[in-house]
Amino acid sequence: MKKIYFVVLLVLFSFTGLQAHQPAATEKDFHSFSNPNEVIVKHVELDLSVDFKRNQLSGSAILDIQVMKKKRKGKNELILDTRDLNISKVMLLAPGKRPKKLCFKIGKREKILGSPLKIKLPKLRSKKTAKIEIRYSTSPEASGLHWLEPQQTAGGIYPFLYTQSQAIHARSWIPLQDTPQVRATYTATIKTPKKLRAVMSASNELYPVLDGIYDFQMPQAIPSYLIALAVGDIKFKPIGEQTGVFSEASLLDAAAAEFEDTQDMLKFSEQLYGSYLWGRYDILILPPSFPYGGMENPRLSFITPTILAGDKSLVNIIAHELAHSWSGNLVTNANWGDLWLNEGFTCYVESRIMEEIYGQDRAAMENVLGYLDLIDEMSSLEPRDQILAADLRGRDPDDAFTWVPYVKGQLFVTFLEHVYGRDKFDEFLINYFEHFSFKSLTTEDFLRYFKKQLFDQQPHAVQWSVIKQWVYQPGMPESTPVPESDAFDQVYLEQVLWLEGEKTAAQLDTQDWVVHQWLYFLNTLPDRLSLAQLTELDTVYAFTQSNNNEIAHAWLLVAIEQTHEPAYERLENYLLSIGRIKLIRPLYQALAETDQGREFALDVYERARPVYHRLAVSLIDEILDWGK
Ligand SMILES: [Zn+2]
Repeated sequence: MKKIYFVVLLVLFSFTGLQAHQPAATEKDFHSFSNPNEVIVKHVELDLSVDFKRNQLSGSAILDIQVMKKKRKGKNELILDTRDLNISKVMLLAPGKRPKKLCFKIGKREKILGSPLKIKLPKLRSKKTAKIEIRYSTSPEASGLHWLEPQQTAGGIYPFLYTQSQAIHARSWIPLQDTPQVRATYTATIKTPKKLRAVMSASNELYPVLDGIYDFQMPQAIPSYLIALAVGDIKFKPIGEQTGVFSEASLLDAAAAEFEDTQDMLKFSEQLYGSYLWGRYDILILPPSFPYGGMENPRLSFITPTILAGDKSLVNIIAHELAHSWSGNLVTNANWGDLWLNEGFTCYVESRIMEEIYGQDRAAMENVLGYLDLIDEMSSLEPRDQILAADLRGRDPDDAFTWVPYVKGQLFVTFLEHVYGRDKFDEFLINYFEHFSFKSLTTEDFLRYFKKQLFDQQPHAVQWSVIKQWVYQPGMPESTPVPESDAFDQVYLEQVLWLEGEKTAAQLDTQDWVVHQWLYFLNTLPDRLSLAQLTELDTVYAFTQSNNNEIAHAWLLVAIEQTHEPAYERLENYLLSIGRIKLIRPLYQALAETDQGREFALDVYERARPVYHRLAVSLIDEILDWGK
């Protein structure tokens, strides 16, 4: 699992023998049925009621459409993406006229894409606009909606609902053109049970009257995967001038304290990359089943509670989601195969923010840990999954969310910074964000822009073949700027002294170690440790009881690999109480490697599965061959 250095060699070595990958044709988004080249949706007006008894949203979406070009004869249609929606009526709205019913057809359901909704339009001239109302309700199985029972929340009294629209789950709760190539503004009226409140990736009233009706405006055009909604017993506490936290009452103070540097992060990002264009930046803390660390829903990042560590040690997630306000939300990947344009740049910006706010040492440590995760994961990825410009035709775009677009993407961007120097590269980035703001771009669009703006200006700085290798080849290029950290060198020395019996665990010089150093210590332990060694470590440092979810995760992974049974009760509680994929998947994976471990995993998973988000369930079902 953690033979890192061996794996590095293996990856570098295996790379040289592989065929060059041909770029995918990225003009068309293969994950959408929609036809935005013919008719485009410019604005979405939602009116939805939230029914916690049926686990259902119902109401209407009014779409403002514009005809882009004259259609072929008899083929005047608007094609939308849907998944498991129950569509009852489609109407054309015109001011002063009665709504006119339109014919529509729902196409065959495809496993990954859902079903196209084909709406027959009246003859409309090019550039003509119209309003189409769609009445519909969602399925209790909607892939983008997660309905929680009261006992799955911190308060335990009220139910909770949250959406996760990325990558292509918006279509399971809104009929729309579900592709990052289309941007639309939106407004919404959300009706909830009284006492609960709704929040969205839009303007949120900070202290509304809880009357069960909430209105939202999102005046900036965003891609569909950034439309987000949460409903629950949600309160608000301000952090800074334009920043604050939404969460259940019991987590509010802790969250506001943990993330008190958010306003400073925002100010610094603006200095580096230009104005923050979204108004407020607030954070919503979700229940622990939330499958990701964070989701960059504009104006309101959705965040896992697992990073509330009490010492700000895991707040790089906030820097990451905030960074998406530029890379991703403002400048957006055109296809999910171009995800590295969102995530690689965001990880780079995240690191710059961390460096500024918490210092170079911390940023360096986080970069090393990210790199180790990447290398570890890459050893089990097929070559096609090690490529930045991924070809995802015929595949579920959720499969693209490995460390490759994130950390390999970040390393590529860091490599470019090193080639051109930080000042020059900062200037390039600010222009890049401005040039493509509120636009979507493909990898090829990026390369063209980069070539013109930077590469051609200094043709001898780097060879084009090296750039292509980064973008289109599997493995890690020889030019990888491997991150280093002095703080980890100390940890390594202490670890060696302990492993060689020169020092006992209690004698290790760990007084000043921070969370990241402990993570490094645990992540780099050798595969074979004796029961006595594990017991010694746990007795001295109480890893099994750690309140830091990342440290507990790293320790539990060690415990599983060595079948250290005293940690299994904590392991069980951990897997039952947390649904964040990054933290639970590796544990199930490690358990699945032995018969005994698998049996334990199946027993726990049977109870945990109903609580986990669908995205986690589909991954863990596969690991454990669930239901087979
Ligand atoms: Zn991200």
